[in-house]
Amino acid sequence: MNLCIRCLHAVLSFFSEILFGCSHSRVTRPFTLQDQTYLVCLDCGKQIYYSAREMRPLTAWEVRRMKAASAGEVRVVALPAAGPRFIASDKRKPHVAA
Ligand SMILES: [Zn+2]
Repeated sequence: MNLCIRCLHAVLSFFSEILFGCSHSRVTRPFTLQDQTYLVCLDCGKQIYYSAREMRPLTAWEVRRMKAASAGEVRVVALPAAGPRFIASDKRKPHVAA
């Protein structure tokens, strides 16, 4: 009986993985290499970025923002106190976020 349940579970997880991809249910403990903290899925090997400060995996949006910031594509610029300022289009630089 126990063997039958394990076989059924294996078959269901096989088809679930085909349909929905890996669920990343078995992961390593968080570790930090070169200032990046992440977990690694033991089934598929995917790196899951992790926030050591908040003790949770990062969302896809947070990972994109982190990669853009480390690549130098995003700069955080303080807004002027006097209100919005218009910049001529020829002086505007691409990839600047305020
Ligand atoms: Zn996985």
